Amino acid sequence: MARYLEAKCRLCRREGEKLFLKGSKCYSAKCPMEDRPFPPGMHGQGRRAKISNYGIQLREKQKVKRIYGLQEKQFVRYYKDADKMPGITGTILLQLLESRLDNVVFRMGFASSRTEARQMVRHKHVQVNGTVLNVPSYRVKAGDTVGLTEAAKQHLRVSASVEAAGQRGAPEWLDVDLQQCQGVYREPPVRDQLDPGIREQLIVELYSK
Ligand code: SF4
Repeated sequence: MARYLEAKCRLCRREGEKLFLKGSKCYSAKCPMEDRPFPPGMHGQGRRAKISNYGIQLREKQKVKRIYGLQEKQFVRYYKDADKMPGITGTILLQLLESRLDNVVFRMGFASSRTEARQMVRHKHVQVNGTVLNVPSYRVKAGDTVGLTEAAKQHLRVSASVEAAGQRGAPEWLDVDLQQCQGVYREPPVRDQLDPGIREQLIVELYSK
C-alpha cells in the first residue's frame, strides 16, 4: 500500500495547524508549529493567495485525511459508506474514522500516535475480544474489547505512551484500563465528543459536487 513518507511536520505546517502526527514531540516545544507556523518551502512566509470555496473544502478534506493517515481512495470509501448510512453524513464519516482499530488503540493511549498504533496492529500486538487482529482498518464495534498482547505490554514505548495517556485521560466513549492495557469501545462518539476544529460539513460539500 502507498505510504506518505515526507516529513510529517510539513503536513501540519501546510494545513496551518497541529495535526498531532508525531506523538510526544507534538506536545513539546520541539514541535515546529511553535516557531514556524507557516507553510513549508521558500515562499512559505510570503503573502497568502486568496483561497476559493473549493480550496477551503479541499484543505479541510486533506487535513482530516492526514490526521487519520489515509490515502485518497480509502478516504473516499469512508465517505461513500457514511453517505449510505442514515444520519448526518459528516458526523458518521468521523465516527467511521474513529472506529478504525489503529485509531482506537491510539485513543486508548497504548500508542503515542496513529502511525505507531498502526504499526502495532500490523505487527500483531493488538487483540480484539481476545483474538489477535492485524488489520488497522478493522471497524471496532460497540462493546468490543481492545487490548495488547502480553509481549507488547512489556515494550518501553508502550509504557511511555500509557504514562502520558494517564495524564491526559481517555475520551468518554471508551472505558480504558491503562494498567491492563485494555479497554472497551463503549459506543461511537457523538459529535460533541470529537475534535471541534474539524469542519466535516466542508468535506461533505466537496464530495457532493
Ligand atoms: Fe505536527 Fe506533531 Fe510535527 Fe508539531 S510535532 S508539526 S503537531 S506532527
